[in-house]
Amino acid sequence: MSQPKLFGTNGIRGTVNKELTPEMAVKAGCAIGTFFGKKNLLVGYDARTSGPMFAKAIISGLTATGCNVFLAGMAPTPALQFAVKNHKFDGGVIITASHNPPEYNGIKVIWKDGIEISHEQEIEIENNYFKNKTQFADWNKLGSTHDILGINDEYIEAMKKHVDLAAIAQKHFSVIVDAANSVGGLTAPVLMRDLGCKITSLNANIDGTFPGRMPEPRPENLAELSKMVKALGADLGVAFDGDADRSIFVDETGQIHMGDKSFGVVLKQYLLDNPNSQVVTPVSSSTLIKDIADAYKGEIVWTKVGSVTVSQKMKEVKAKLGGEENGGVFYGPHQAVRDGAMTTALILGIMAKTGKKLSQLVAEQPQYFIEKGKIECPEEKKQKTLDKLLEQVKGLNINTLDGVKIWFPDKSAILVRPSGTEPAYRMYAEAKNPKRAVELVKEYTAKLEKILETI
Ligand code: MG
Repeated sequence: MSQPKLFGTNGIRGTVNKELTPEMAVKAGCAIGTFFGKKNLLVGYDARTSGPMFAKAIISGLTATGCNVFLAGMAPTPALQFAVKNHKFDGGVIITASHNPPEYNGIKVIWKDGIEISHEQEIEIENNYFKNKTQFADWNKLGSTHDILGINDEYIEAMKKHVDLAAIAQKHFSVIVDAANSVGGLTAPVLMRDLGCKITSLNANIDGTFPGRMPEPRPENLAELSKMVKALGADLGVAFDGDADRSIFVDETGQIHMGDKSFGVVLKQYLLDNPNSQVVTPVSSSTLIKDIADAYKGEIVWTKVGSVTVSQKMKEVKAKLGGEENGGVFYGPHQAVRDGAMTTALILGIMAKTGKKLSQLVAEQPQYFIEKGKIECPEEKKQKTLDKLLEQVKGLNINTLDGVKIWFPDKSAILVRPSGTEPAYRMYAEAKNPKRAVELVKEYTAKLEKILETI
């Protein structure tokens, strides 16, 4: 039997005291500490009620293996990632369940470069965990625990170096920040105040029960922000996810724009300033991103879906910009990880430089209509289904990095991709008109159904 898994697609994650218990966290701390081997590690957490509890459990495991722990307390994931690199820690552990509901929590392990560890490194930790390979330190060599203060302030100062402060301040932008009652509220409003913006906060009080809205910045959770931007006549609204590495923007008319569009705004300006650059994005990104790259002399480096893959590819090819459709923008000059506050500062910088409102910046982009679909497919049939589908789409313009993405001559496209969390295939279609997008999902659902009948 194969070894059970500890890490899922988003690190270690589960419901508190059910799927993820303090006992597991102590053991995970031992496994992670053994993996690093008596090193200096930073630990922090988001606003969830279980954060301090899991921090103590993990610290117990880490110090038992001789690692010294520097406890930063509550902070956005990108602030902790920045601090790992900035303070030259050997790594870090972040206790967060990102966009999941409040009853969840999770554990992310960070390498010394500030990026989450690779899949191969996760397997090493899993081996330590399941095979009880903990290397306990002697009683007189246990790790020490220290508080470290000020990492959120250092993170805010660092971001200010990457935008034109004076140009933004001159505009006196009015911005509404929806921090989901979590850690985004600790940093983003301060950063924007320092950029000369007038800030109105929504769900900015820290409350781990997330009473304001669910922490996933999807349109259905952002109705209040949208209404408020319109009612107050603000220039911009921004919503963060639970650990503030992703940001979704609302323009001055109250329109919510998904991540492809805000990434497109950042990408266009980046390529105008840095022509002939590479940009990294997963195959799930809209053709809009490719259109902008083509129009402004950029080269796209496609990756599998997943933020760690994007960060690592950026490092490998030395690209300075990456982005995802879910609102993750990776700005390499600051750090090659998703960062919601940095993205907000970049968008404000672009609004200041161009003199355009977000609605105008988005309206200039090519428009696509998106349609999603899903079809059940047992785990054991996933590969065979894909193989059969690939035979059928031979000769088309395809990319097979993650499932199969097919680009058609009429500028429509579809990504057919095995779900990482469910026994299913997911489909993301886009086209210049909504009818074609719907048809594409129908066509590929039928193809997959037929394949599944025969295998
Ligand atoms: Mg997140």
